[in-house]
Amino acid sequence: MFEVPDWPGHLAGQHVDLRLTAEDGYSTQRSYSLASAPDGESVELTVQRVDDGEVSPYLTDELAVGDVVELRGPVGGWFVWRPEQKEPILLVAGGSGVVPLMAMIRMRRAVGSRTPFKLVYSVRSPEYQLFVPELRRDDPGLDKRYLYSRSTPPEWPRPPGRFTASDLSGAGWPPDFEPTCYVCGSTGFVETAAGLLVALGHHPGRIRTERFGPSG
Ligand SMILES: Cc1cc2nc3c(=O)[nH]c(=O)nc-3n(C[C@H](O)[C@H](O)[C@H](O)COP(=O)(O)OP(=O)(O)OC[C@H]3O[C@@H](n4cnc5c(N)ncnc54)[C@H](O)[C@@H]3O)c2cc1C
Repeated sequence: MFEVPDWPGHLAGQHVDLRLTAEDGYSTQRSYSLASAPDGESVELTVQRVDDGEVSPYLTDELAVGDVVELRGPVGGWFVWRPEQKEPILLVAGGSGVVPLMAMIRMRRAVGSRTPFKLVYSVRSPEYQLFVPELRRDDPGLDKRYLYSRSTPPEWPRPPGRFTASDLSGAGWPPDFEPTCYVCGSTGFVETAAGLLVALGHHPGRIRTERFGPSG
């Protein structure tokens, strides 16, 4: 959670560019999605640690309360959900790609929207799942489906494996409901999921994607 003086507010789905600068002047930047619904000058980011990464281990292990970072944003105008959208929404997340989709879920709740949402959330195994307590809560009008690629919780009905067209058709909306689909995760995940949605008959113009990076 960051306090950002003069934060202009943001839309659900936007991100910031976060810059770190070392004492010797070396500086590096990464993008992070805004996890929170707009809330004054507070901004929440959720960072998943990439073990051999340069920035994410610093953010998850070393950054302390009171430290200052440079944020630029909000960035992005296409991968956003606006409460005035009335069509059904399908959210498809791979790994940390759930972060901007969580902002949409939180925004929907914050404004009391009744727009029906479905979330399909794919992770390697249960310990990689983000926002577990919050997503476990009952949220009327939000359907959730979890898919595990490597290992599942005990007695999970679906065996572990990559997600397929039948996962998306079973958990998503039929194309003739004309949902807007938001797909976010690693580049490979997004390309696979978007391809499956098109193959199922969803119009490419209603599929919005955000790619986080090579492996997710
Ligand atoms: C628009 C946008 C929004 C993003 N939002 C988030 C977010 O909300 N939360 C979040 O955790 N990340 C998010 N990312 C990813 C983030 O920007 C970084 O890429 C990620 O934190 C890795 O940075 P790093 O410096 O630790 O790793 P690097 O030093 O850049 O890379 C180290 C190694 O990890 C691989 N790698 C790079 N990115 C990833 C990745 N995403 N997953 C797995 N391996 C990777 C690289 O190929 C390399 O081998 C977002 C990316 C984009 C483009």
